[in-house]
Amino acid sequence: MMRAWEKNIRRVTPYTPGEQPEEKDIIKLNTNENPYPPSPMVLGAKQELERLRFYPDPAAKDLVDAIADYHGLNSNEVFVGVGSDDVLAMSFLTFFNSDKPVFFPDITYSFYDVWAGLFRIPYETKALDDTFSLVAEDYYKDNGGVIFPNPNAPTGKLVSLAFIKDILEHNQDVVVIVDEAYVDFGGETALPLLKEYENLLIVRTFSKSRSLAGLRIGYAMGNRELIQALNDVKYSFNSYTMNYPTIVMGTASIRDDAYFRETTAKVIATREWFEKELAALGFTFQKSSANFVFASHNRIPAKEIFEAAKKEKIYVRYFDKPRIDNYLRISIGTDEEMKTFVNFLKLLV
Ligand code: PMP
Repeated sequence: MMRAWEKNIRRVTPYTPGEQPEEKDIIKLNTNENPYPPSPMVLGAKQELERLRFYPDPAAKDLVDAIADYHGLNSNEVFVGVGSDDVLAMSFLTFFNSDKPVFFPDITYSFYDVWAGLFRIPYETKALDDTFSLVAEDYYKDNGGVIFPNPNAPTGKLVSLAFIKDILEHNQDVVVIVDEAYVDFGGETALPLLKEYENLLIVRTFSKSRSLAGLRIGYAMGNRELIQALNDVKYSFNSYTMNYPTIVMGTASIRDDAYFRETTAKVIATREWFEKELAALGFTFQKSSANFVFASHNRIPAKEIFEAAKKEKIYVRYFDKPRIDNYLRISIGTDEEMKTFVNFLKLLV
């Protein structure tokens, strides 16, 4: 029998994150983490433990200023949160309050429909074409907002700045969010469009290109009114989302640009090599602009490869979902890790 209070529970279908196995001696290519450690400046950033007795700066000013400075923006054009998941969730809550559906691709970051569900936001997914490209015309119809990652996840495929401009031209009455979680691995940022489009919000993360998934920092960049609205919602929910050590270490990461460039270049070089190896082994994939490759083998089902790899302690990501259930999303590890994975594939295929 249903108890009376049960009808007042908010029922949601939660997001399922990739596995974080307990075993230590594995090759972990399943959650798009960076294979290199964070900048030595992050690890050496001076912290005054004494300060932990105080609440942190609710505005995370040092971090916001460092990010704004890095991108040539004003500080009132930057919002920070606890990973881009937090920033994106806040953005759904703040900007998607229309009765009309929010549009996003059918194959994309699988948290979007979860936030829509959590906040009771109507949405419609728009099918990618057979080459996993977004179809611009699908986003011309009346809607309550638009969001897509660029490069897209889990496909790794990029759209051009001209494409984003076209989407913005056709969607001037709603907020358009470009999720640039992976843009540092060879993507083209929509930042130059910020000046022109006051309804554009760009979301970034420290989790991938800055090797700081464990710290939890994400940020949004946009017109000051959008940022103000985000801050108002955040302060209505929890003022102190960014803790003191995170603010200190995040600021140090932004300041070490040389290390950032070096490690992202290494990941890109490994990806280029890995794509050639995959092609030679009979895999097909769209050229990736991210720190992962989304690939399908011409003979062996993805699920079989996924399971065989796991037995060898190599973790990749498999999505048992329509249209992508014969693909593996393989994060780019170190050269050595990728060589081990390629050698495993050579024995299998
Ligand atoms: N956007 C996309 C497209 C992602 O793949 C991820 C990683 N799961 C995120 C946002 C969130 O990353 P984080 O919360 O670690 O910043």
